[in-house]
Amino acid sequence: MKNEYLKRVIAEVEARNEGEKEFFQTIHEVLESLEPVVEQHPEYEKLGLIERLTEPERMIKFRVPWTDDEGKVHVNRGFRVQFNSAIGPYKGGLRFHPSVKEGTIKFLGFEQIFKNSLTGLPIGGGKGGSDFDPKGKSDAEVMRFCQSYMTELYKYVGQDVDVPAGDIGVGAREVGYLFGQFKRITGAYEGGVITGKGIPYGGSLARTEATGFGVCYFTDAMLRDNGKSFEGKTVVISGSGNVATYACVKATELGAKVVALSDSNGYIHDPEGIDIEAIKEIKQVRRARIKEYIADHPKATYTEGCRGIWTIPCDIAIPCATQNELDLDSAKALVANGCFAVSEGANMPCTNEAVAYLQASGLLFAPAKAANAGGVATSALEMSQNSMRYSWSFEEVDAKLKGIMENIYKNASSAAAEYGMAGNLVAGANIAGFLKVANAMIAQGIV
Ligand code: NDP
Repeated sequence: MKNEYLKRVIAEVEARNEGEKEFFQTIHEVLESLEPVVEQHPEYEKLGLIERLTEPERMIKFRVPWTDDEGKVHVNRGFRVQFNSAIGPYKGGLRFHPSVKEGTIKFLGFEQIFKNSLTGLPIGGGKGGSDFDPKGKSDAEVMRFCQSYMTELYKYVGQDVDVPAGDIGVGAREVGYLFGQFKRITGAYEGGVITGKGIPYGGSLARTEATGFGVCYFTDAMLRDNGKSFEGKTVVISGSGNVATYACVKATELGAKVVALSDSNGYIHDPEGIDIEAIKEIKQVRRARIKEYIADHPKATYTEGCRGIWTIPCDIAIPCATQNELDLDSAKALVANGCFAVSEGANMPCTNEAVAYLQASGLLFAPAKAANAGGVATSALEMSQNSMRYSWSFEEVDAKLKGIMENIYKNASSAAAEYGMAGNLVAGANIAGFLKVANAMIAQGIV
């Protein structure tokens, strides 16, 4: 990077957010690709635009005490970052996972600003979560935790203020408990305060499927633009949660054969094609481990450890588990085995080195901000339905989602071409997402 202004901002971000590696990783990735835009706009420096963009509007940190089934009290840490509200109320999921730290939430919140802007819908960037681990906890323990979490968070959220949703470890069950507690404390039915709700109480049809379906719609648009398609292709997907499950469903519908999925312990390889109903039963109904799949699928194998999944030969890889799960060695294995496209379903699943290698090797690469924006886009459609006190059919929401993903592809692709980086969707997505937010920030003055 040559731009002195950007170099200075990066150095300042690193100095004042000590040890937050994931946050620096996304700051580097985004700011590097914004260089050609910043070069054309020297006025940004005087306006402190990039300094304001990289500093959250508000970072909320709180204690979450809860009691387990034996009566013992535990203390977790809750977070909510309200990163940028230039184009709408803060919007972004909640992650409950033991690895969650302040820097994790800041990395996710920063990414969310650009992703939300790319959807074309009026939503700002936010994110939250806790280092609580829902795994192995009873329903009653999860409920007590969610109630305690919301007892603090309710002060900061609202349908025109900040609208959380699910993420890793936060699914329909947790969203239900969080919404119930919000309603109880405020004494009002403010349906649009959280998204990912159950269908009987204000949820949107197709929200559950949206991120996974959206990744495939985006990938399909990218493939078609390059004279390719999903038809007859072999696909490897990591994870077996919400995003992975519905990416598997849609890729299969589009004519591909998905041969592998994983969880945080290991991966399954089924050369016959994954039986997704069996996965749903294991992961969603029984909340069990993915290795149980092989008991009823004799051609399938299970291997301990996650990273080996990228050594399975495939045409298209879709990482849908977590950040930095696909490193340089994984990228090399994919290229060596003839993979020609990688689409990020999870947030920042590929390390910056892996992305650089995949792009230099000529693969089609769909970055998370663009490719997985279908979840938050459909959350915004859930907010619209809540405001209208009306609901659309599954087909209506799905058609809107498909249109949004195709538009994101077009916008990212043309922004890349406009700034002399045709085909580089990483740069294109960052630039397209940034421009709208930057112009709104400038119009609103120094706030
Ligand atoms: P889920 O909790 O439903 O599933 C997460 C999956 O990833 C599980 O299979 C989990 O395994 C695995 N996993 C989690 N942590 C690790 C780890 N450290 N190493 C290896 N595997 C891991 O989450 P989602 O499917 O909702 O989210 C997956 C990714 O997609 C995240 O990056 C999230 O931020 C992103 N995303 C999600 C959206 C949504 O709408 N849900 C929207 C946009 C992005 P195990 O079962 O063992 O825990």
